[in-house]
Order: sequence, then structure tokens, then C-alpha cells
Amino acid sequence: MTRYGMVIDITRCNGCYNCFIACRDEYCGNDYPTYSAAQPDKGSFWIKIIEKERGKYPHPVGVAYTPILCQHCDEANCVKAAKNGEIYRREDGIVIIDPEKSKGKKELMSACPYRVIYWNDEKNIPQKCTFCAHLLDAGWKEPRCVEACPTAALKFGDLDDPNSEVAKLVAEGKVEILHPEYNMKEKVSYIGLPKRFIAGTVVFGDTDECADKVTVTISDGQEKETLKTNNYGDFELDGLPSNKEYTVRISYTGYKPQTFKVFTRDDVCMGDIFLTRK
Ligand code: SF4
Ligand code: SF4
Repeated sequence: MTRYGMVIDITRCNGCYNCFIACRDEYCGNDYPTYSAAQPDKGSFWIKIIEKERGKYPHPVGVAYTPILCQHCDEANCVKAAKNGEIYRREDGIVIIDPEKSKGKKELMSACPYRVIYWNDEKNIPQKCTFCAHLLDAGWKEPRCVEACPTAALKFGDLDDPNSEVAKLVAEGKVEILHPEYNMKEKVSYIGLPKRFIAGTVVFGDTDECADKVTVTISDGQEKETLKTNNYGDFELDGLPSNKEYTVRISYTGYKPQTFKVFTRDDVCMGDIFLTRK
């Protein structure tokens, strides 16, 4: 049995928006009866690209792009909320909003914690990505967004076919769910989701010079990572999980050690840390 899914490789996404434009091209002004009604010109982002700037000068600054679309969950909140079959899961796992039955059911939008259901004011219906089910049923191998992606950041296929690329990536444990806490058995997974980092610059307070080769220990209470500052006094530890508390200890012979508590709600830029002599 086919079970369609997608793997999105964030490390390959350059934020070109070709996927979004292909989606618009496929759905704006085009009705696909039983699958979807035409997407409005404005206000619908069946695939949207979240841009997140990472870091803060003088530490490395970059932008991570995360495409987000309906995750076609096997245990979808939206399907559970649609008591009269307005939203249903097909045998191949694709979740569809029935464009007729869902008329006037604006409340279904709030059933999705990913916030990927959009309201079409003109047609009075909720709408979202269909994985281009009308094309797959006509023999296409992948949705328009996947076909349009120039970097192969979007990969699509049958999760139940062990030879498909998506099934192999999942089996190799290379993927993560965007929000595993929602517990909806999402069929869209991600490679390289942005992680948090802790960074700072250490300065010798008495001479106002960059403090190189200072020992920086970053610990979560169980695991400990020890770094040395570089010639500019900078240190950085990347790849940390979100929403975790860490203790950062800065020490150097002849200077008073300093200890800080930080929380990785976001990337942590500690700024300049001045060491004072013992
Ligand atoms: S991501 Fe949201 S809209 Fe899509 S299947 Fe899951 S709960 Fe439904
Ligand atoms: S087309 Fe591909 S590279 Fe461009 S924004 Fe979409 S996912 Fe990223």
C-alpha cells in the first residue's frame, strides 16, 4: 500500500520560493473538483518558507529557510475535528479537505497546530496543500513544488516502499519531525532543522585585550563540552537543542572564573565577558 510522504532537507533550501510559485501556478484560478477549489490570489501559503536569522554580529550570522506545508499526519487533529467527513485521510495517506462539505466551516482552521489551513473568503472554505493529489492520481510522480525545487531540498515518495529515497532517509534515522510534541504521526519530516548555539567573546578586563585560549565549559548537568576561545576571544558551541538550560563556565589561570546560566529558547549570544584578575 502506498503511503505518500515528504522529506525536506533544510541544508539544501536557499529560500528561492520556486516551490511557492509552482503551488500558486497550479492552484490560483484552477478548480480541481473533489480535490480542491481554486486558491485565492492573496493570503494563502499552502507551502510557506519561514526565514530565521541565526546569530548576531560579531558572531556568525546566517539565514535558515524552513518550508512548511500540511504534514499529512496519519493521526491528524484536523481529521478528528471534522466530524462529518469535511477532512479525510485517503488510503495513500494524503489528507484532503473536501471543498464542498467544508463550506462555512471556518472553525476547522484552528484544529491544525501547524497553522497550515487557510481560509478562502471568496469561496467560504478552509484550504491547504493536497500533495497535488489530482496530479498523482493522473500519474505524476511528485507534486508541483517538488518538481520545481532546483536544489532537491524537497523529496517525495512512498514511505512504505523501502527502495524509495524518502523511506531510506527515514530508515537511516536522518530525519526529524518539526513538532514531535504534537504526536500526530506527521508524514513530512526534515533534515538539518536549525539548532541553537551559545556564543560569546572573552576579554581580559585589565588590559582590554581579546582573551585567547580561555577555557569555556558548557554543561547541561549531564554532558559537558570544553572549548578554547580563538585569537579574537570568541567561542561558539552549535547544534544544541531548544529550550534547555546550560551552565557556561569561563576560566583562565590568574583570573577569577565566571559562571553563567543560559537558556536556549533562542540562539544565545552572550556578548563580551570581561575577566578580572584574582
Ligand atoms: S498538518 Fe495540520 S492540516 Fe495537515 S494533516 Fe496535520 S493536522 Fe491536518
Ligand atoms: S524551491 Fe526548494 S530551495 Fe527553493 S524555497 Fe522551495 S524548498 Fe527551498
